[in-house]
Amino acid sequence: MMLIPTHHFRDIERKPEYLQPEKCAPPPFPGPVGTMWFIRDGCGIACAIVTWFLVLYAEFVVLFVMLVPSRDYAYSIINGIVFNLLAFLALASHCRAMLTDPGAVPKGNATKEFIESLQLKPGQVVYKCPKCCSIKPDRAHHCSVCKRCIRKMDHHCPWVNNCVGENNQKYFVLFTMYIALISLHALIMVGFHFLHCFEEDWTKCSSFSPPTTVILLILLCFEALLFLIFTSVMFGTQVHSICTDETGIERLQRTKQPREQSGSWKSVQEAFGGNFSLNWFNPFTRPCQPETPIDKGLVRQVSSLSDVDNMETAESQLEATKDRDSVEVLDE
Ligand SMILES: [Zn+2]
Ligand SMILES: [Zn+2]
Repeated sequence: MMLIPTHHFRDIERKPEYLQPEKCAPPPFPGPVGTMWFIRDGCGIACAIVTWFLVLYAEFVVLFVMLVPSRDYAYSIINGIVFNLLAFLALASHCRAMLTDPGAVPKGNATKEFIESLQLKPGQVVYKCPKCCSIKPDRAHHCSVCKRCIRKMDHHCPWVNNCVGENNQKYFVLFTMYIALISLHALIMVGFHFLHCFEEDWTKCSSFSPPTTVILLILLCFEALLFLIFTSVMFGTQVHSICTDETGIERLQRTKQPREQSGSWKSVQEAFGGNFSLNWFNPFTRPCQPETPIDKGLVRQVSSLSDVDNMETAESQLEATKDRDSVEVLDE
């Protein structure tokens, strides 16, 4: 039984450009010290700016149309503090979700030397991403926007201009939660303000003219309602994903590739950072997951050839049948 049979690197041999240094040169990982993770995607950057603009619009209307002109100081101060705190936490979570590496796999490590160093045993395979030339660990997926393979990728979210993956899911969940909360809070305040204005004189209930006040409040109402629905659904889906330990992509692929789920309280703790505490709601504390070893989950065991991924071509299936004890490098 040979550990490294002749067709071990057949995909690489067939497409020799994978091993050309300029295509496969492993960049430093996790990147030079001080490098910030930021996806240069025009659409994502525009969506992230719109997100900030919408939150700042809500801030403006809540403060200058509703709270500052109000003569009930206790009402204004309490609601002002609560709304501003939630808005600050929402924007901080947004920044953290956008600027945190979601769990990118080292790019370009699918080199002959690296695969040899893994010392694959018979029945073991490694999956290679042909797009970013990396060895793809279990549960990682390639994102065409980030141009990287991301561990436990859930989806790419243009609103945070980043993938949602293993390392930034907490920030994304907090972002959806705080946006849902400020939307609900704004809706309640708009409701009270309308009631108050109908009872009192419209000219006294805001420093703006009555038509401007009504337009600003109705726009805020629409915005808050839309985002309350959108972020509540997103929050629910994400919490469900964490509880069942199944990413959005895995849910879509469930019928194709059934996977053993190990969802539990433990996966919630891993995603949010240890035992339940206020830190779960703090976007400034990292989810204290154990540092994932770079080579964790790279080598996968196949019990039979039927386990070999569907994406494998018929040609390579045939080749594999000839040598069942072989080790494989598969494109995925
Ligand atoms: Zn990739
Ligand atoms: Zn992405």
